[in-house]
Amino acid sequence: MTDGTRTSVIARNQMGGPTIITSDPKSTYEVVFGGHGAPDGTDYQLIPREIIQTPQFEASLAKGILAVVEGEDDADVQAALAGQKAAFWERARRQDTAAREVLEAPSDNDMLALECIGPGTRADAACGIQVPVRAREAGLKAPLCSQHASLEDRCVKRGSGPWVLEG
Ligand SMILES: [Zn+2]
Repeated sequence: MTDGTRTSVIARNQMGGPTIITSDPKSTYEVVFGGHGAPDGTDYQLIPREIIQTPQFEASLAKGILAVVEGEDDADVQAALAGQKAAFWERARRQDTAAREVLEAPSDNDMLALECIGPGTRADAACGIQVPVRAREAGLKAPLCSQHASLEDRCVKRGSGPWVLEG
């Protein structure tokens, strides 16, 4: 497939709750999914090219957070799916230094789906929108959705305890 015949890519959220995928920490591109089976169909979303080409998208497919329902034969989607294939891990298992270096980069980028600790619509409940956070950053950065990202300075984590919003 050439660049001139790119198909649109639609993915479905496989998670029970809302899920957000962003192209970068600044949310330059962002897709918000409703929970799997949402009555309004928001669990299906068109995925922009800028997100398809990110490691986060590849990881969300590998982890089964998202599933591609249209555009599986798109070249970029194929590349993302190929990234899940065993060849990568086979190489790592051989334990040569080069493979180790390759292995460390994506595992740092492993995505966790954490719930936003920003204020929710009710006083006693947190926002709860699932935020993809890199495993490496989970202890460094509070889970906040794009709407609550500005509250970062009020988030505190003590020892191995959970992130809490103060103030
Ligand atoms: Zn939030």
